[in-house]
Amino acid sequence: LQKRDLKHVWHPCSQMKDYEEFPPIVIKSGKGIYLYDENGKEYIDAVSSWWVNLFGHANERISAALAEQAGRLEHVIFANFTHEPAVLLAEKLVEFTPEGLSKAFFADNGSSAVEIALKMSFQYHKQKNKPNKTRFLALNNAYHGETLGALSVGGVGLYNEVFQPLLLNTIRAEGPDCFRCPFQEEPGSCDTPCISFIEEKLTDHHEELAAVIIEPLIQAAAGMKMYPPGYLKKLRQLCSRYDVHLIADEVAVGFGRTGTMFACEQAGISPDFMCLSKGLTGGYLPLSVVMTTDEVYDAFYDDYQTMKAFLHSHSYTGNPLACSVALEVLRIFEDERYIGQIQEKAAYMRKRATELFVHQSHVGEYRQTGMVGAIELVMEKATNKPIPAEKRAGYQIYRIALEKGLLLRPLGNVLYFMPPYVISEREIDRMLKIANEAMQVYFD
Ligand code: PMP
Repeated sequence: LQKRDLKHVWHPCSQMKDYEEFPPIVIKSGKGIYLYDENGKEYIDAVSSWWVNLFGHANERISAALAEQAGRLEHVIFANFTHEPAVLLAEKLVEFTPEGLSKAFFADNGSSAVEIALKMSFQYHKQKNKPNKTRFLALNNAYHGETLGALSVGGVGLYNEVFQPLLLNTIRAEGPDCFRCPFQEEPGSCDTPCISFIEEKLTDHHEELAAVIIEPLIQAAAGMKMYPPGYLKKLRQLCSRYDVHLIADEVAVGFGRTGTMFACEQAGISPDFMCLSKGLTGGYLPLSVVMTTDEVYDAFYDDYQTMKAFLHSHSYTGNPLACSVALEVLRIFEDERYIGQIQEKAAYMRKRATELFVHQSHVGEYRQTGMVGAIELVMEKATNKPIPAEKRAGYQIYRIALEKGLLLRPLGNVLYFMPPYVISEREIDRMLKIANEAMQVYFD
């Protein structure tokens, strides 16, 4: 299978020499936090298959909900038709998301959700007779997906540099950097003076700005950069002051990852748009949703003369299978009081990871928000000098950990893990132990 895969399948992040030396591992099955390859080798899925898996692989409740819906209705056009799973899911999402978010617009991946929020914000301002509000403001190292609109508001050169001529003219601001804070503040105890970077851009450009887009609490692809809720609170105030929409991209951090159902909750704010995907279906099916307000929705009321409606429809919009699975995910959150469990497990993970990692000479910082842990590798603790990129330290440790049956991920010099919420304390210990062993092998 590996050889046949290399012949015809084009994977993301592939066609590099590494891929030939280290072809894709053939995964045959999964159960709970584990994946199993074709030889029966077990891997701890410590990245929840890229943030998506919340309640374990082959989850009985979710599988049953999917099978039940598949026997009834697999799909139907979503223009002028609806169905029970979509309506019930929209109702639940309104109940779960911050106050004021009362409308759900479905799509099928996170990048599309971002595109939709950008397009809606742009069209909203046009229809409100504010035709100059045509641009977006994003943070320098943001990541919002890989379609052209989403890339336009992203700032990670690795993904968007090659497409620069095709991208929107986004305004950019320096974001928070708590590990190498330019204000020499201590993470967790500061008053976020770094808000001044974005404040300055908003002050100068608000007349041409439709929206600010941000990854709440964790800038993931930037290197799991974590920042305090106070920053978001101030940003919400600034956006309201300047009549600029706030788009919260909770594609990665939504659904309990940060220890609350949504990261915005920790700042006590409600954005104008909230983009959700990944964990929404617990890792089962592609689905995304943009939650927005009545205020936005009402601006699109159309009398068929003006064509004010929002014309954005994907073939699989509101897919009943995906909606019923997402509904079951939200019911699990409710029935099993998962937020409390996540907080307890996160506290345990923090305690154990801190004991293991923080005193090591190559660990500049261990940071954690909810169930996302990140180890910042450095040359030496005293100076926090970064390890040169060509050493590919994170990648090498990732490879060693995989050999040992642990799937974590590198982002340059950062190693991160975010296991499914069903992980037990014993399994947390095992995950951290293997990560630690892999680091020792590399640094020794
Ligand atoms: N926004 C954020 C913050 C993300 O982390 C991602 C996915 N990594 C996306 C958007 C894009 O989602 P998708 O991969 O489903 O298109």
